[in-house]
Amino acid sequence: MKITRVESIPFSIPYLKPLHFASGEVHAAEHVLVRVHTDDGVIGVAEAPPRPYTYGETQRGIVAVIEDVFAEQLHGLTLLEREQVGARLARTVGNPTAKSAIDMALWDALGKTLGQPVSELLGGYTDRMRVSHMLGFDDPAKMVAEAQKVRERHGISTFKVKVGRRPAELDIAVVRALREHFGDSVELYIDGNRGWTAAESARAMKEMADLDLLFAEELCPADDVLGRRWLVGKLDIPFIADESVPTPADVTREILAGSATAINIKTARTGFTQSRRVHHLAEGLGLEMVMGNQIDGQIGTACALAFGAAFEATSRYAGELSNFLDMSDDLLAEPLQIRDGCLQTSSRAGLGIDIDPDKLDRYRTDK
Ligand SMILES: [Mg+2]
Repeated sequence: MKITRVESIPFSIPYLKPLHFASGEVHAAEHVLVRVHTDDGVIGVAEAPPRPYTYGETQRGIVAVIEDVFAEQLHGLTLLEREQVGARLARTVGNPTAKSAIDMALWDALGKTLGQPVSELLGGYTDRMRVSHMLGFDDPAKMVAEAQKVRERHGISTFKVKVGRRPAELDIAVVRALREHFGDSVELYIDGNRGWTAAESARAMKEMADLDLLFAEELCPADDVLGRRWLVGKLDIPFIADESVPTPADVTREILAGSATAINIKTARTGFTQSRRVHHLAEGLGLEMVMGNQIDGQIGTACALAFGAAFEATSRYAGELSNFLDMSDDLLAEPLQIRDGCLQTSSRAGLGIDIDPDKLDRYRTDK
């Protein structure tokens, strides 16, 4: 169970349809595949998605910090020394997705070594998650058509609508068009990615008061401290903190300050070990939780699924597990399949996924 090697391999897979949102846009999945090798010949895998507009990491930066700093620090530790691994990675500040990919690859290797699925090692609450689909910026008719297509093909009936454009009328028209098209047969919630001010958010929420929204997420920046607290106090639905709560300390600060009333957990930025801490803290504070998507590929989605299904609170609502549908291909030998609006966890050891060597050869950018 000793770690002998940590690999970081950059790859690039184009998107069929670029995703646009208030804090950025994505045209290709330029991620980093992380592989943790042990002296038993086991290899654990995970992926790190660079999100410079949220965490400041770049693809080359992730590869470099793993090669130059983290790989050496983990050499010789066992897969069970996860707290020691975390402590060593924590000597370097930042780099959340690089650290998380290492942590999740390590859990995958542990599951494979023990012959047990990671989701069951983490908590084993259920074997499936309902899937929520994210709708990026477009005009109302196109976003309704996209939702209709996803619903017909995959049975998905929960949609997270990206908002935060100026003026807000276009976003409000989108949400209204979705509600009019689907009636009460779908769940709708919105994510502003900090695109509006608190006052703009309050005005938009007032205009959408009749649209039966499930949640509102990061409509304005958490750094607008008093404005955000004022906004959250006015709402009658949970306000989800996402990019403002990447650590347990941030969750504590934002919730005690009244700046949010629910949280988004993303395994891409807190791995499994830290996500478990965030989950336990949120449970103790009595918060609603949603499993989020860092525009993950299928490897990252398998990770979010494994964690979400492990606990009651993280599997209660639909998880954001469908961004990979917009990619032209992936690295997995067996693609994930969303059926009847659900993804099922693997019953195989570890994460239950295999990298296709030919696909990795085709998409890696370091050769
Ligand atoms: Mg978000």
